[in-house]
Amino acid sequence: MQKQLMAEHESRILVIDDDPGAIRLLATLLKGCGKVYFTTRGSEARTMAQAINPDLVLLDIVMPDRDGLKVCQEFKQDPLLAEIPILFVTSQTDADMETQALEAGALDFIHKPPHPQIVKARVSNYLALKHHTDQLRMLSTQDGLTGIANRRSFDKAIENEWRRACRNRYPLSLLMLDIDHFKQFNDRYGHQAGDDCLRTVAGYLATRVRRPGDLVARYGGEEFAMLLPKCPLEYALEFAESILADIAELEIDHTEGEETRRVTVSIGVGCSQNVCKGRRACWHEAHRLDQDLLCGMTSANLIRQADMALYQAKQNGRNRIEVSSMPLAFEEHSEGA
Ligand code: GH3
Ligand code: MG
Ligand code: MG
Repeated sequence: MQKQLMAEHESRILVIDDDPGAIRLLATLLKGCGKVYFTTRGSEARTMAQAINPDLVLLDIVMPDRDGLKVCQEFKQDPLLAEIPILFVTSQTDADMETQALEAGALDFIHKPPHPQIVKARVSNYLALKHHTDQLRMLSTQDGLTGIANRRSFDKAIENEWRRACRNRYPLSLLMLDIDHFKQFNDRYGHQAGDDCLRTVAGYLATRVRRPGDLVARYGGEEFAMLLPKCPLEYALEFAESILADIAELEIDHTEGEETRRVTVSIGVGCSQNVCKGRRACWHEAHRLDQDLLCGMTSANLIRQADMALYQAKQNGRNRIEVSSMPLAFEEHSEGA
């Protein structure tokens, strides 16, 4: 999975210049460096970049509808585009202008008229650097054993999704899954087989996250977390039921003595919605306290809720699903209001 995720793609270069002649020239010079996309309108640059996700942007400074400095600032303020390197292509040699462009977040300059070999060499170097950075970024967010998201990505994702859910007032569900009797599995089949089992379970869980914002992560050891935005409690429960059944059907043998067993998991389900007092009350409460509260909860409450439910599932015999009936954070905040 890791290899597949890290597979090199053809580089995408976006050229933004109001002069079609300049675009044509750059496209010719950059043959072999990657696929060249272009627009003659600065005002369209951001939407286009969001659609094609380029590895490098070559940006003209002087354009009639929106100047390059403004476009550069827009990119740097957009979380989806901020990491894309921008090179200005300009006939301006004014030191103030260059300083402004660098301060706006541009990496470097290509001067017009472009020198063919220098343009090609510079673009190739920046593309190589971009791919290297992308790989490092990916490795820092992935779990080394299973290839799915690591704990660090999960922590970041739940904060982002929590904020999004608070703003848009939709439910956010969280599943915490833990493999049952995994210590025994390791003891009986060995650590290598234990690792294979973790990879198989993670690989299966990865096939179950398909909607934007859904995430599966290795939370630690033999524990996984699944984050499901816009998912009410009843759907989260159905989802958990199907996962429980599918994992047993992976038919990973876990025989103990006389007893023939398969690897199973226990699942704790948390959902912001299961403590909800209604849209209006939630919104007023969050506003009054000036906090990112959803149904009176913070993201830490949601994790705790799912964790407690998982603990309950273990207590109640494993290979099952539980939902926490944790006391409401909302009530605590509301006291004395
Ligand atoms: P329970 O049903 O209560 O969850 O019992 P358990 O045995 O699964 O839980 P426990 O926390 O006692 O043991 C977890 C085991 O998971 C112990 C540890 O060696 C194993 N483990 C954690 N990370 C890895 C890993 O990366 N590879 C392998 N092979 N084993 C791991
Ligand atoms: Mg376990
Ligand atoms: Mg555990």
